[in-house]
Amino acid sequence: MTQDRRSAPSSAFPSAARPGVHPALAAHAARFGQKIVQTGQRTHTLIGYNIANVSIIDAPEGLILVDAMAQEDDARRARADIQARFPDKRIRAVIYTHFHNDHINGVEGFVSASDVASGEVQVWAHADLMHYVTEVSAGTGPIMGRRASYTFGAALPRGEEGFVHAGLGLPHNPGPRGFIAPTHTVSERTTVSLCGLALELIPIPSETDDMVGVFLPDEQIFLTGDCIQGETYPNLYTLRGTPYRDPMQWVATIDWIRHVLRPRAVVPHHGHPLTDADAIDDVLTAYRDAIQFTHDQTVRFINQGFGPEEIALKLTLPEHLAQHPWLGEFYGTLRHCIPAIYVGKMGWFSGDPVDLDPLPKAERAARMVRLMGGVETVAKEASRAYEQGDYLWAAEMLAYLVSLDPEGSSARKARAQALRGWSYAQSNPNWRNWGLSCAMELDPPAADQSARKQLVMAPPAVINAFPPGNILRGMATRLKVEDTDSRHVTVGFHIVDKGLHHALELRRCVCEFHAQAPATLDVDLSFERSFLTALVSGQTNWVAGIEAGDVVLRAGTAEAAKAFFACFEPPRAPHTISLVSR
Ligand SMILES: [Zn+2]
Repeated sequence: MTQDRRSAPSSAFPSAARPGVHPALAAHAARFGQKIVQTGQRTHTLIGYNIANVSIIDAPEGLILVDAMAQEDDARRARADIQARFPDKRIRAVIYTHFHNDHINGVEGFVSASDVASGEVQVWAHADLMHYVTEVSAGTGPIMGRRASYTFGAALPRGEEGFVHAGLGLPHNPGPRGFIAPTHTVSERTTVSLCGLALELIPIPSETDDMVGVFLPDEQIFLTGDCIQGETYPNLYTLRGTPYRDPMQWVATIDWIRHVLRPRAVVPHHGHPLTDADAIDDVLTAYRDAIQFTHDQTVRFINQGFGPEEIALKLTLPEHLAQHPWLGEFYGTLRHCIPAIYVGKMGWFSGDPVDLDPLPKAERAARMVRLMGGVETVAKEASRAYEQGDYLWAAEMLAYLVSLDPEGSSARKARAQALRGWSYAQSNPNWRNWGLSCAMELDPPAADQSARKQLVMAPPAVINAFPPGNILRGMATRLKVEDTDSRHVTVGFHIVDKGLHHALELRRCVCEFHAQAPATLDVDLSFERSFLTALVSGQTNWVAGIEAGDVVLRAGTAEAAKAFFACFEPPRAPHTISLVSR
């Protein structure tokens, strides 16, 4: 349980220089066939259509859909099977359990935006869901897209050379993705009547702070979203990047379910339902124990002065938890969750003054390579480490050579090959996908556009569902501060058909959003909401809109407007962002 060592999987499967799949990962992947499981008189869960499950509640006056998958093509396949099972009923309500893409972006494969707009279909979620969609999925959208693509192996070929499994369910297939904002929200335990059925919507902060569980009181069935992530040790951190997931909040939520709610069935939206009282008690107890163990032991070693990587090297789950069928490290791992607990509680600072004022990466690489005997010596040592199966040590040495010469193909290819060797040996699909995606970044396939296949966290259809103010406010994080110098200019945005008049005030190096435009404006623009739709889809831009007359100048000059918009970068396409090539 406490020992200092590098990851176990490498030694468990050492013959990894050639493409291959760790046998434990292959066995895990085989569990996820497509099926519809009935968990109560009214509740049915669709598994294996997409990375996340969805559930259908058969209510007297219609169907209630809980969660909506990651994309619309898979959602349409699921809807066809739902309609075959319930030919006389329509989906009249949707409940999002939380804001993650795999639970919301397929919604228009199930219901239409016009039916939601007319009130024919209600959409329910936690009151904070929109905040997280705009701040997390869209605000850090470009890098989240890149990192999610690495986590889920979006650009990798399928099979033993590349993607095998996502850990939680099927991969993110490419396909249309959109979003319909909630029409109704809750922020505390609330009984609602949907389609003639009384349900409870219960906040259960755990994987995310906006998690909502759906409780059917008559049958004591609890749909738990991602509070339980299926048959895997939970992802207390995701490699993609995430706000802090407080482990003991998560434990408190599970304990409330175990001791207070005491449901007869627990239906997670990854993995399989639990419908037996003994199984529920066994799984929930083991799950919360694994989280508390990780938290408590991490804090124990934090208090002894150890850093995040040191603690991650010390801890493994106790044997009875490590062997539990719901706690294999097929999504979360202790190794990548422990540092997140450290950072969540202590922040990033290691305590070493060197880390307060570190050398720039290229400078450190130059000094280290010189100290190690020069480029050729390092390359030779890396090659020897690779031959001995010490893949990450090879990759670590080769990182210096890539930093010295980021465009040099021999170091990039050697490092890519070392990362592939490591990746094939991993049983955790996130680690495998990440390593192989980094190898692809360093050594992209020739004459092949697959490296450009990236997940887009907030595609235009999602951003377009935001209130106009959120779209405008998002510009502030693309301000090219080096070009703005001492400029102070305030631009009004009058969205005529919505009766909104926002403003952005560029005050030297900061751009402040005003929900209500101030009285004095240097430039004032008016346009219809539909212009923003064209803008976020990339069909136009502000300058083109002004020139075409879609954006009308009510005050100021076109030159002043153009100079203002020139201060902002366009959004980055995820495939242009490098993580390991410098
Ligand atoms: Zn999920």
